[in-house]
Amino acid sequence: MVEYSERIKSLPPYLFAQIDKKKREKLSQGVDIIDLGVGDPDIPTPEPIVRAMQKAVEKPEHHRYPSYEGMLSFRSAVADFYKRRFGVFLDPHKEVIALIGSKEGIAHFPLAFINPGDVVLCPDPAYPVYKIGTIFAGGVPYTLPLKEENHFLPDFKSIPEEVLRKAKIIWVNYPNNPTSAVATENFYRELIQWAKEHNIIVASDLAYSEIYFGEEKPLSILQIEGAKDIAIEFHSLSKTYNMTGWRIGMAVGNEHLIAGLGKVKTNVDSGQFQAIQEAAITALNLPDSEVQKIRDIYKQRREVMVKALEDIGLEVYKSSATFYLWVKVPKGFTSAEFVSLLLDQCGIVCTPGNGFGDYGEGYFRISLTVPTERLLQAVERISKLKIL
Ligand SMILES: *Cc1c(COP(=O)(O)O)cnc(C)c1O
Repeated sequence: MVEYSERIKSLPPYLFAQIDKKKREKLSQGVDIIDLGVGDPDIPTPEPIVRAMQKAVEKPEHHRYPSYEGMLSFRSAVADFYKRRFGVFLDPHKEVIALIGSKEGIAHFPLAFINPGDVVLCPDPAYPVYKIGTIFAGGVPYTLPLKEENHFLPDFKSIPEEVLRKAKIIWVNYPNNPTSAVATENFYRELIQWAKEHNIIVASDLAYSEIYFGEEKPLSILQIEGAKDIAIEFHSLSKTYNMTGWRIGMAVGNEHLIAGLGKVKTNVDSGQFQAIQEAAITALNLPDSEVQKIRDIYKQRREVMVKALEDIGLEVYKSSATFYLWVKVPKGFTSAEFVSLLLDQCGIVCTPGNGFGDYGEGYFRISLTVPTERLLQAVERISKLKIL
């Protein structure tokens, strides 16, 4: 048989494979598994969005090829959302492009700007696609450790000069998956200034902008003065509106960067089904009270779960955004060992921190994507472990 390409062979090993296998074994033995592993909302998509889709599916004009860059009405709805939510003005013709889920855009973006050997600055721990997209484009990922003592913000000023010379893109993702950390305005300001000095594209992944619980709403990087000269932001309806299955997202920001991504996409896909784009317009125009209902559910789950975990002696990173908890592994265990123990002894699936990169070692991630009763059951089971 023909061998896999070097590109495929050079991918980091799939760290969840062992857990997946064990989980399937347990399920087949009839174990009642509580799955806190996946970052996929359990709450259904709001009614009005589903209704809009049902209507849109019937329209013959949507049965043909969509436009590559997305319907202008969708891109305008994105621009309106950015204006309303962030006070950011976008030209829907040039500064917005539709994506088949933001993962698609994140994976394809480096193909537009990375030549073989160019460096992409990738945070660690992180969503794996930044690194994998880099490798697929022939680029070289350079690890930016995210450390708790820095509130999980990268120390971009400590990157060696010889790396900077080859660097073309830096990825940032706040509110952050997996750590739940949030970026400050000051961090973004310094980042934009630094990126301009070194001519490095700032690629911001804002998938969790609407999953917040504090007084201060998470920022878009485009709120920072001058950001549009050098930044692109990837956003998605997946997490905000419980639409992970629908595959619709957007990239916004600098015109040249959007056009580059558009060039790649024109050659690999033919856009997203227009009925989905129409449903997405309905979603983006929903009153914030609809999203607030979703936030209230996560907020309650978060509060209950943080307290319960702390009561049994586990240390949770303090944050007020995302539906993740980033928890320290008890002394004497690695991330993999502890997550394995949770599955074996408690029937609980969590994600080991090192699955997001080496700097995730020492932590595990809990997704608050199951009802509160199940979360409490999970804590009850962990408390019986007698290792804490
Ligand atoms: C979920 C997620 C995404 C992408 O979601 P899509 O469904 O592809 O839009 C992107 N980045 C992070 C960090 C995520 O957790």
